[in-house]
Amino acid sequence: MPEAPKIAVLQESDQILAEKNKNKLQFIEEVTTNADDVQRRVLEEILTRNADVEYLKRHGLQGRTDRETFKHVMPVVTYEDIQPEINRIANGDKSQILCSNPISEFLTSSGTSGGERKLMPTIEEELDRRSLLYSLLMPVMNQFVPGLDKGKGMYFLFIKSESKTPGGLPARPVLTSYYKSSQFKNRPYDPYTNYTSPNQTILCPDSYQSMYSQMLCGLCQHKEVLRVGAVFASGFIRAIKFLEKHWPELAHDIRTGTLNSEITDVSVREAVGEILKPDPRLADFVEWECRKTSWQGIITRLWPNTKYVDVIVTGTMSQYIPTLDYYSNGLPLVCTMYASSECYFGVNLRPLCKPSEVSYTLIPTMAYFEFLPVHRNSGVTSSISLPKALTEKEQQELVDLVDVKLGQEYELVVTTYAGLYRYRVGDVLRVAGFKNNAPQFSFICRKNVVLSIDADKTDEVELQNAVKNAVTHLVPFDASLSEYTSYADTSSIPGHYVLFWELCLNGNTPIPPSVFEDCCFTIEESLNSVYRQGRVSDKSIGPLEIKIVESGTFDKLMDYAISLGASINQYKTPRCVKFAPIIELLNSRVVKTYFSPKCPKWVPGHKQWGSN
Ligand code: AMP
Repeated sequence: MPEAPKIAVLQESDQILAEKNKNKLQFIEEVTTNADDVQRRVLEEILTRNADVEYLKRHGLQGRTDRETFKHVMPVVTYEDIQPEINRIANGDKSQILCSNPISEFLTSSGTSGGERKLMPTIEEELDRRSLLYSLLMPVMNQFVPGLDKGKGMYFLFIKSESKTPGGLPARPVLTSYYKSSQFKNRPYDPYTNYTSPNQTILCPDSYQSMYSQMLCGLCQHKEVLRVGAVFASGFIRAIKFLEKHWPELAHDIRTGTLNSEITDVSVREAVGEILKPDPRLADFVEWECRKTSWQGIITRLWPNTKYVDVIVTGTMSQYIPTLDYYSNGLPLVCTMYASSECYFGVNLRPLCKPSEVSYTLIPTMAYFEFLPVHRNSGVTSSISLPKALTEKEQQELVDLVDVKLGQEYELVVTTYAGLYRYRVGDVLRVAGFKNNAPQFSFICRKNVVLSIDADKTDEVELQNAVKNAVTHLVPFDASLSEYTSYADTSSIPGHYVLFWELCLNGNTPIPPSVFEDCCFTIEESLNSVYRQGRVSDKSIGPLEIKIVESGTFDKLMDYAISLGASINQYKTPRCVKFAPIIELLNSRVVKTYFSPKCPKWVPGHKQWGSN
C-alpha cells in the first residue's frame, strides 16, 4: 500500500491542535463572561460537599451554601488561625476536619509561620485543576506567537527535597508534587509540553546533576528550542550562571558523546544517553560562543530560534529584568501565570506585554475568590506590622470577584476545594482591567515582605528578630546598633541580603572582624527555613553581608527621605530600601563589610518533626 503522504498527517494534527486551542479559548470566554454565576456555583459546590466537615459545622454554617450566609457566618482567617486544624491533620487525624475529601498531601508554601514553611492541605483532584490552568497557557500564547508546536521548550525545572508529617502525609512544594504526579510524568504527547529536558533529569533529586543534564540536553537540541524558561527569573539566571561555569565540561561531553562521570544517577544517564551523540561541530560552536568575553545575548546566540523567555518577573522578581534583558538581547519576557500552594489563580491573556503591564485574569472555576480593599502606606516610611484579625467592619468590606473596582488594590482571600475557607493569601493585587466580567489584576506585592532573592520571603518582624539576636555579640564590646536597614543585592548571582548597620560605640576595645561575621551568621541562623534552604540546599542565596556605615548616615537618609516629601513627624527608618539613590547614599558611607563565613543549619521538614 502506498504510504499516506506525511503532509496530510501533519495537516490533520494541525487541525486537531487548532481545535483544542479553540476549545480552551472558548472556555476562557465562557467562564469570564459568566464569572459571577461560576463563582456562585463554585462556592455552592465547595460548601455542599463539605457540609459535614468539623470546621464549617463549628462555625454554624448548618449546611447552607449561599454566599450571604457564608459571608455572615464564616470568619476571614490567616494561617495562624487554622494552624491547630492543620497540625491535627499533619499529626494523623483523618477525620473530616477541613475537607470531606481525604487530604492527600501538604504543599509547603514559601510563606512561613513561626520560621517554618506553611503547610497547605491539598486533595487529589486539585492536580486536575492545576493541570487545567496549565493547559490554558499555550492556546493563549499561540494567538501571539504561532508555530510553537513545531519545536521544543527548554525549561529548567527542579524538584526539591520533601519530608513526611508525623501522620505520614508527604509535605513538599507544589511544583515538586506536580512534577512527580502522573498528570505530569505520564502526560500524553502534546507539542506544547515537549521539553528538551527528559522527565528523569527534572525528577533527579540532586540539583547539580539535574541542572547539568538539563543544560546538556538543551544544548544538544539547541536548534529545536523555540522558547526557554524556568518558573522564576532567579532560577533561569542561575541556569545561565551554571553554563558560564561549566561550559567546558558540557562542550567536552558534546564533542565525545559521553556523559560526565559526575552524573551518577542511573536513570538520568540513560535518558541523556538517548539524546547525547558525538557532535564536534556543535561542541566547537558552544565553545566559540561561550569563550567570548561578553555574554550579552548568549540565549539568542546558543539557541537562535528562541522567541521568548518564559519566567515570572512580576513582584520581587522584577529585580532581575535588566539581567534577563542582557542575556537574551531583549527577547520578550513572558509571565504566563499566577499561582500559589493554596490554589492556582490565573493566567496572563496578553503574554507579550511589557513586564510592568502584566495582569492576570483569575479563572473563576479555580476557587471562590473574595477581595479585601487595601489602603497601603506609600512613600519611604514603613513600620513593623503584625497581621491582625479583621474587625467586624473590615469583614464586611470584602467584595466578590465581579465587584472589584478598576484601579483599587485588594488583598486576595480564597475559599478552596481543599478546605481553606476565606483564607488570606497575603498578596496585594490591583485591578488593571477586565476580561468580559472577570477582573485582571496586576501583582503589587506580598504583604509585609521586605527581602526576597529567590523563593524566600522575609518579613520585617523576622528581620527585626534576627538582628536582635545578632547584636548580642556586640554587648561585650560596649557597642550597640543605633540604626539598620537592608536590601536584596542581586547584582551578583546568587543574590544575597545586605544589612547596613550604624553602630554606637562606647567601649575602647576594637571589635574584631570575627564578631561581625558571627553577627552575619546569627542573622542567617535566625531567618526562616525557606531562607536557610536557599542558602544550604538550593544554593540560590549567597552569604549574608553586613556593611558598617559611618556615624550620621541614617540622619542623612532621613534628610533625603524628607527632601522627597516624607513627613518629619512620621518618619521611621525603612527596614528595607529599594530606591537606587538611597542605596547609593548608604554605599557611599560604608566603612567595612563582613560576610557570613558558613551556611546556617537547615534540614528538610519542620523543626518539631524531629528526625524528618
Ligand atoms: P508558594 O505558596 O510558595 O507557591 O508562593 C506563592 C506566592 O508566590 C504567591 O502568593 C505570590 O506571592 C508569589 N507569586 C506566584 N506567582 C506570581 C506571579 N506571577 N507574580 C508575582 N508573584 C507571584
